[in-house]
Amino acid sequence: MDNRIAMHIARLQKEKAHLLVELGHLYQQLNAEIEVDVEGGDPELVDRDMTVSLIRVQEHKLNEIDHALEDARLGLYGICERCGHPINPERLEALPEATLCVECKLLMEKMPFHVKNLLNAREARVS
Ligand SMILES: [Zn+2]
Repeated sequence: MDNRIAMHIARLQKEKAHLLVELGHLYQQLNAEIEVDVEGGDPELVDRDMTVSLIRVQEHKLNEIDHALEDARLGLYGICERCGHPINPERLEALPEATLCVECKLLMEKMPFHVKNLLNAREARVS
């Protein structure tokens, strides 16, 4: 395996461990905040919303990392899932959990859903 890829994967595994610890803290925090509510204390809704949105962000990141690690397990790390081309090494450097190349990522973000479907259908016909 490419050295650089091995490094990215090690980084992802480290980040995953870190995220799990952090999420554990956040869940605890959320529970504590809910308990305050139950006891009739001042409901700190703003705090709780913030904890919930933090949890969402971290869980999303964890999903992306898991996704990239799964690709790595299949020997597909660093390959764009949409077009099958290698992902730019600089992009992987900045975002080791990336599973799409920049072009495809932009395409997916900008395109309305129905256009994506049309394109997928056309690609299926071509290939
Ligand atoms: Zn691509």
